Amino acid sequence: MTVRSFGQLAPSLQCSYPPEVSLFVSSEFESGNIVVHACAAPSSIELSIRHDVGDEHLQWFYFRVSGAREQDLRMRVRNAGTSSYPRGWEGYQACSSVDRKHWTRVPTTYDGSELVIEHRPAADLVYYAYFAPYSLERHYDLIAQSAAHPLVALERLGATPEGRDLDLLRIGEVNQTKKPCWIIARQHPGETMAEWLIEGLLERLLDTNDPVSRRLLSVATFYVVPNMNPDGTARGHLRCNALGVNLNRQWNEPDPSLCPEVFLVRQRMQSTGVKFALDVHGDEALPYNFIAGADGVASLPDAVHAARRRYKDALCRASPDFQVEHGYPPVPPGQANLQIATNWIAERFGALSMTLEQPFKDTVDCPHPDGWSPDRARLLGRANLDALLAVVEEL
Ligand code: ZN
Repeated sequence: MTVRSFGQLAPSLQCSYPPEVSLFVSSEFESGNIVVHACAAPSSIELSIRHDVGDEHLQWFYFRVSGAREQDLRMRVRNAGTSSYPRGWEGYQACSSVDRKHWTRVPTTYDGSELVIEHRPAADLVYYAYFAPYSLERHYDLIAQSAAHPLVALERLGATPEGRDLDLLRIGEVNQTKKPCWIIARQHPGETMAEWLIEGLLERLLDTNDPVSRRLLSVATFYVVPNMNPDGTARGHLRCNALGVNLNRQWNEPDPSLCPEVFLVRQRMQSTGVKFALDVHGDEALPYNFIAGADGVASLPDAVHAARRRYKDALCRASPDFQVEHGYPPVPPGQANLQIATNWIAERFGALSMTLEQPFKDTVDCPHPDGWSPDRARLLGRANLDALLAVVEEL
């Protein structure tokens, strides 16, 4: 069967059940991603996830179902088993919203091949997504509202391959005594929790009543890129930009024609220097918040490894949603992949450079009925400022 992309149905596949009720599945909106194979009845909706450009990755989904109020929906995602991270579906519950503001989890199962979402919507229109979306409109609001703050300067670094603005927020004074601290997020656009975390972090950093933020700004200048990959965001990608490039595999030798996003940020980093860098992500499989450091960068001084341990310990104290027991296995010294942002920054600047991973599912140690969520990501963003305060003076 040939099926058009973007969730549109061929004319011969018009959905209707019963005939007078227009059951319809679509994803023709920003960040939308689904292909509809069948929706002849609520109990037999068949879907698949569209690849990112480049055909290497798929996992992010985001679609709406209309005309299904008080109907028992059974939606099969047929290609879940061939996704980028099949283990991500184990123990996973899909996110659902009727108002596109509040997202809850709905019953979801995975048999090693297909993901099945079963839900009875209470309204005529319901949305489903891999995680609570963070829209480009919300991103533009975050940039504009931050830029209006007296402590903030906006730097437009340049344009993405599709012509969108790549924006940097510079926060605090710039002088020789201030330590340049970089925080970037959403190199992988489907990891929307990364920008939710940035939102909480910025809210606290710009609160002039908060003593932690005031102290940080007395010793540091912040350079924050809330969304490294707006093109991928618009397209509903998991990992790649509009040209099919995984930005977090380009840092050692970025080609400005293929990944201007990395080229421009890296260029600005070289002009500011870097003492601290946090690259915020989401991990599909592991039900934990954790930090992956630049263990494999052989040139990194012991003092930086020690600072990383202190940062992680301080983050544990600040948030029970963070832990240090589980994560990626450490990379042996000398074997770091310098195409990854965290490693390149550590190698180039000798900086405390870390990748912060959040779960798509939940944290095992501190679970919540809604799973990992925007609110919890925002709180973890705030807690990262406590952790930074514990180490910033020694960087
Ligand atoms: Zn990622």
